[in-house]
Amino acid sequence: MAKHWSLPPTDALRADGLRIADLDTSGTPGFKGDKKAAAALQAERAEVLSGLQEKLYANGRSGDSRNVLLVLQGMDTAGKGGIVRHVIGSVDPQGVDHASFGVPTEEEKQHHYLWRIRKALPRGGQLGVFDRSHYEDVLVVRVHNLVPSEVWEPRYEEINAFEQELVDQGTILVKVAMFVSLDEQKQRLMERLERPDKYWKFNPADIDERAYWPAYQEAYQVMLDRTSTEFAPWHVIPADRKWFSRLAVTELLINALDRLKLDWPTAKFEVEEQKRRLEQA
Ligand code: ADP
Repeated sequence: MAKHWSLPPTDALRADGLRIADLDTSGTPGFKGDKKAAAALQAERAEVLSGLQEKLYANGRSGDSRNVLLVLQGMDTAGKGGIVRHVIGSVDPQGVDHASFGVPTEEEKQHHYLWRIRKALPRGGQLGVFDRSHYEDVLVVRVHNLVPSEVWEPRYEEINAFEQELVDQGTILVKVAMFVSLDEQKQRLMERLERPDKYWKFNPADIDERAYWPAYQEAYQVMLDRTSTEFAPWHVIPADRKWFSRLAVTELLINALDRLKLDWPTAKFEVEEQKRRLEQA
């Protein structure tokens, strides 16, 4: 068990049976340490993550088709960008396949909602990151009735089948839903308005979305209830404390990579022979 955790993070953060309405967004489930302990641990665990990711990349270069895909969902300001910058930022960018999904383009709108998702899937050996994902098609789309319910309703099952397909092909899915409180969101939006270096993150529409908070809570709950499967479970991260969400996602990724039981790829040449050749070269 990782230091300072009383439960493995995969268990402590598992979505099964969880009611978002009851979630303490400032909690640190399973973690006994404080912010200071977390900072030291984060540095240590980032090294571990980076080492495992290098192994994944090395295996991919040697033809291994397996990979890991981190799916990040959360309301505006929940900290998705911070995870990408601080957690994914600690590994070798060559091995990262990052994609973010905003309002579909005209071209994307002409296609099935999974079209753009399939195009962005990570290759073998890559650590894929989806900043928002196919889940927007049962979240924002449901909340704003962007298509009729007859259209979004079957998507839960369709998404499960899609993810089963990915898992069968050798992808480990790490699905993370991040939650901040309505108050914390207000503070984070205010910070964006108070700091010129954060204006670029502010979108006036984010304020309008706050009126839909309960509808989003409901849509997120249904998403967790219907798409947290054995093969691709959701994890719920209380995200008011950034240091916790970053540490938690680091641990979930380490766990996923550990499950691949990776070794360094064996040499495709005779090592001693190559040493001899090099000596003489
Ligand atoms: P972010 O807000 O994450 O920084 P963007 O500015 O690109 O990123 O905006 C993403 C926006 O796109 C969000 O409001 C999100 O709800 C919306 N979006 C994502 N996917 C869809 C979709 N399939 N249909 C409609 N809106 C979507």
